[in-house]
Amino acid sequence: MNSIKQNLESIHARIHTVELAAQRPTSSVRLVAVSKTQPVSALVAAYQAGQRDFGENYVQEALEKQVQLDAYPMIWHFIGPIQSNKTKQIALAFDWVHSVDRFKIAQRLNDQRPDGLPPLNICVQVNISREASKSGIMLEELSDWVNMMQTLPRLRWRGVMAIPEPEHDLEKQRVPFRMLFEAITALKQPFLDTFSMGMSDDLEAAILEGATMVRIGTAIFGQRNYPVTPR
Ligand SMILES: *Cc1c(COP(=O)(O)O)cnc(C)c1O
Repeated sequence: MNSIKQNLESIHARIHTVELAAQRPTSSVRLVAVSKTQPVSALVAAYQAGQRDFGENYVQEALEKQVQLDAYPMIWHFIGPIQSNKTKQIALAFDWVHSVDRFKIAQRLNDQRPDGLPPLNICVQVNISREASKSGIMLEELSDWVNMMQTLPRLRWRGVMAIPEPEHDLEKQRVPFRMLFEAITALKQPFLDTFSMGMSDDLEAAILEGATMVRIGTAIFGQRNYPVTPR
């Protein structure tokens, strides 16, 4: 069985290989370790192997882990569905939020981000495969967000997050990522420097198309301890 340290090494090797193939600078892709459902001991093992960015989907679970991991200076990313009644806790306890898909949620996070903390880094989730069941805004709505987000000083809008429909073929996996990259480039907003795209099964496709953050769970920690469906 692979250890978390070995798994992290092989993910870094996969990332590095694609960075070279895509002629991108090394270290242009940041690895977020998705630790939902994993025990605190697994996060500590990843931390000790050098991992700093952690992604969580459930507020309550994340807050409980954060209390136990207080001694470890980890960077916390919220990547799960956001309910209005959880925005206050998210605004207090996270450094990044990748799953903003309603302006009302962005407003609440802005209003609830404490003044003593730096602005909250935000990615807007885009429903890139246009699946009715998936959350996320449509690509065409992105230009409206440019104006709307300027009204929220406690947020720092960094870019987009997407979870495309699963595909096994590399070329098919690349298509939605490319569409998203082109849509952001067309907005000509240099502050949009973050593409949170790519998971365990499609990180190569995502990096080839410009991902700057990949969110990897099972390839680091193994199978999750109970089933969850990313939305
Ligand atoms: C669970 C999850 C991941 C990680 O998926 P893996 O296939 O385990 O790498 C990434 N992003 C989001 C939004 C998730 O919910």
